Formats: sequence, C-alpha cells, structure tokens
Amino acid sequence: MPSETSRTRRGVMLIIASPSGAGKSTLARLLLQTDKDITMSVSVTTRQRRASEVDGVHYRFITVRDFELMRERGELLEHAEVHGNFYGTPRAPVEQALEDGRDVLFDIDVQGTLQLYETMRPDVASVFILPPSIAELEKRLARRAEDDHATIRRRLKTALGEIARWRDYDYVLVNDDLERTFHDLEAILKAERVRRTRRENLAPLVDGLVGDLETVLASEA
Ligand code: 5GP
Repeated sequence: MPSETSRTRRGVMLIIASPSGAGKSTLARLLLQTDKDITMSVSVTTRQRRASEVDGVHYRFITVRDFELMRERGELLEHAEVHGNFYGTPRAPVEQALEDGRDVLFDIDVQGTLQLYETMRPDVASVFILPPSIAELEKRLARRAEDDHATIRRRLKTALGEIARWRDYDYVLVNDDLERTFHDLEAILKAERVRRTRRENLAPLVDGLVGDLETVLASEA
C-alpha cells in the first residue's frame, strides 16, 4: 500500500551507478529493505547467471534472440552492451510504477542512463557512487569469490571509463563510510519525492488555497 505522499505524486526513477565494487549493490539492498515505496527494476540480460543469482529476481536471463525481439518491439526503455553482454530495462513495469506513485531503483550503466535522460529526464534522479580509493576498489572486487582474476582485471579496466563519466550524474557520493553514504542516498530520494514537477496534486491544492484566500480577503474588505 503506497503511503499518503506517494499516492499524490509521480514515482521517482532513481538510478544508482558506480564501477563494480564501489558499494552500489549493498546500498541498493539497504534501500530496498528499509523503504517500502521503492522497488528494483529487474533488467533482462543475455549474460550467464551467476551461482548466487535468481532468475526473475536479480535479472531475467534471456537469449540473444529474445533480447532482440524485445528491443525491436519497443519493450525496452533503454538497453546497452556491457562486458560483451546485452542488458535492458523492461518498459511496462516502470511506467506502471511511476503512474501509481511508486519509485523504481535502477542499477544500470552510463549508456542506459543517458538514454533515459533523453526520453524521461523529468522522472530521473541519478546518483554516482565513487570508491574512496582504487586500492579499496580492488580489495572489494577481490573479496567477491565469484569472479576470477581475468574478470576482476576487466572490471577494473571498465571502471576507468566509468569513473570518467561522473559529471553525467545529478548527485555524486564518495562511499568511504557505508552508513553515511546510505543516509545521503535516503536524503536524496526523500528530496526528489517532493520535487515540484512530481507533485500532481499541487496545482488543484494551490488553486484551492488561492480561492479561499480571495474569499477571506473579499469578506474583510
Ligand atoms: P553485472 O553483469 O555485473 O550484473 O552488470 C554489469 C553492468 O551492467 C553494471 O554496470 C550494471 O549497472 C549494468 N546493467 C545491468 N542491467 C542493466 C540494464 O538494464 N541496462 C543498462 N544500461 N545497464 C545495465
């Protein structure tokens, strides 16, 4: 059940981006656990499922052919090729959520973010998470037992290009302290929810206020 405020506003598309290992997944998980008005956008991907991943929860794992069909039918809000695999955001669940006043969290790369700016800029708020240092980034990637050495190196190489795009984001957080970064993320979402352009009930409310004020003033004249 959406809260009182969410029923009278359009939802926020909250994009969190970072090079892998900067803490994005942990922050996303915390937000989803603690905030009942936001849900994760489940992307489709053609990459292999990792052992820890559940189909339909982390991604919908599909074939290249099915991905192409979805793209051709206009069923993807954005799509991109990352590390040689295809990824895309299904359109329908996002459009429904925004209309219902529910927020949607996106873990997408910069190519997808720029596509959403082109088509849905007023709905989007984007946050870029930076690691405090490259040593820390390497440490966090190495801790992920699932990825082999070659994968880690490839991700570090990709990180170089990703970090360079920090100016494409509305907000930038340096994740040197998880708790503080999380509070900042919560604050961003809270502020974005009351942004004027999302408050569909404001115009009638203001009309009412102005009408009442005019009545008061007229009766006192
Ligand atoms: P991973 O394979 O590690 O889960 O994700 C690799 C990259 O793909 C990450 O940077 C992630 O943000 C990005 N990604 C995941 N889903 C999507 C999507 O639907 N669209 C775009 N543009 N990027 C995605």
